[in-house]
Amino acid sequence: MTSPVATPALEESFRGALVRPGEPGYDAARAVWNGMIDKRPALIARCTGVADVVAAIRFARENELAIAVRGGGHNVAGTAVCDGGIVIDLSPMKGVHVDPVRRIAHVQGGVTWGELDRATQAYGLATPGGLISSTGVAGLTLGGGFGWLSRAYGLASDNLLSVDIVDAEGRLLTASAGEHRDLFWAVRGGGGNFGVVTSFTFTLHPLGPVVFGGVAFHRADAAGEMLRAYRDVTASLPESVTSALIFLTGPPAPFLPPELHGAPLIAIAGLYAGDASKGERATRPLRELGTAAVDLFHELPYTALQTMFDATAPAGLQNYWKSHAFAALDDGAVTALAASGVAMPSPLSHVDLHHLGGAVSRPADDATAYPLRGAEYVVNVVGTWPDPADSARQVAWVRDVWDALRPSAADTSYVNFLADTGPEQAEPAYGATTYARLGAVKRTYDPQNIFRGNVNVAPR
Ligand code: FAD
Repeated sequence: MTSPVATPALEESFRGALVRPGEPGYDAARAVWNGMIDKRPALIARCTGVADVVAAIRFARENELAIAVRGGGHNVAGTAVCDGGIVIDLSPMKGVHVDPVRRIAHVQGGVTWGELDRATQAYGLATPGGLISSTGVAGLTLGGGFGWLSRAYGLASDNLLSVDIVDAEGRLLTASAGEHRDLFWAVRGGGGNFGVVTSFTFTLHPLGPVVFGGVAFHRADAAGEMLRAYRDVTASLPESVTSALIFLTGPPAPFLPPELHGAPLIAIAGLYAGDASKGERATRPLRELGTAAVDLFHELPYTALQTMFDATAPAGLQNYWKSHAFAALDDGAVTALAASGVAMPSPLSHVDLHHLGGAVSRPADDATAYPLRGAEYVVNVVGTWPDPADSARQVAWVRDVWDALRPSAADTSYVNFLADTGPEQAEPAYGATTYARLGAVKRTYDPQNIFRGNVNVAPR
């Protein structure tokens, strides 16, 4: 049982709720998306604004408490919570202010992608976000962040104009192209290493409210052939089309005929980022990859497209992921991917091949801390299963697929998909040059490494 900490000093200055072990709401407040995570913080500080964040950081320092920072609580490694320390929980901070004239949005640290899309779409605007609407804007953006708009408009972090961030000293800073430029470079890919971001300012793009996109399902019998055809088609798709190829097991859903329920399938999903009436033509090469058993590409509201996979990612199940990035898909990768798709030990697992490039690859390698500018594809091997007793088998499958893909993969990897976040993970994920530069920024803003519940960069 975790002992609660004495909080009278914090209570004086804190406006949000302070939740301690044994109190009502404690278990709900410490639960994160991945049901494998069962951490017991000594205190959960549910912040209502910047002043609460400053007070929580100072209190943690004075009491030498480990710190975890929570945005949307989706990190698969469970870094939003910690054992025995304090969770600085931004999830009550839900403010979104859209300025449709300047096409920017100010977004507080606890907002999810579904909430941001809803607010920006009211003006026919959007910024690239994640594929599942309950994911936090904060963690996704700080690690890079890609989704259906990324080939057209880049990463979520590429669309940042500035962040307001409270550093390890409790100072509120604004980082942008004009102020604290080193910090602004680092927070675009370097994760939560440098402080607590209370507000993000994004640039927005005209889009929707109706777009053309969706998903088509194929039987996975000729997986190698499909993968090769997908590789060929993605080589010439316009940047306005972002897509993914997904190995999955047919869910017992009404949009699939009963004979596909439980069958190994390949889904081709994507979006045309432009005038919906032109989307049918732009996405046709993707939809003519083989003969789809079911083609659900159509005109739909952007907010519907942004939630179309939500049912595949319910909170509370067991989850273990491993990912690789690829400059190109060689035949070895095709063979390994094709084998992965027909041997999944859980019908809830999937293997996602994201096609990137386009606007994601345009900035220079050292423009931000995101280490995968040259990656044309990112693969995420997503193990999901309900029974904790089955974990050894499921984790072994994810690791086996990842091992088989390794010879074809890039050296660096996507920090937001790391389920293992030990201190040895950060340098290989970023590569030596970026890691060294991140370490120098860390020394300026968090020299004692109080923000270490993440893919941790050591102060240099
Ligand atoms: P949290 O678990 O709340 O936070 C993760 C970490 O981010 C924290 O430990 C902290 O270090 C840092 N952090 C969070 N908030 C702040 C803050 N305000 N200030 C400073 N640091 C902070 N990624 C993609 O790129 N594209 C996708 O389409 C995508 N889809 C996903 C779908 C699902 C179902 C899941 C579970 C994850 C997905 N991800 C995707 C990965 C996602 O980017 C990471 O899990 C990310 O960490 C989630 O952010 P969060 O705020 O929800 O997480």
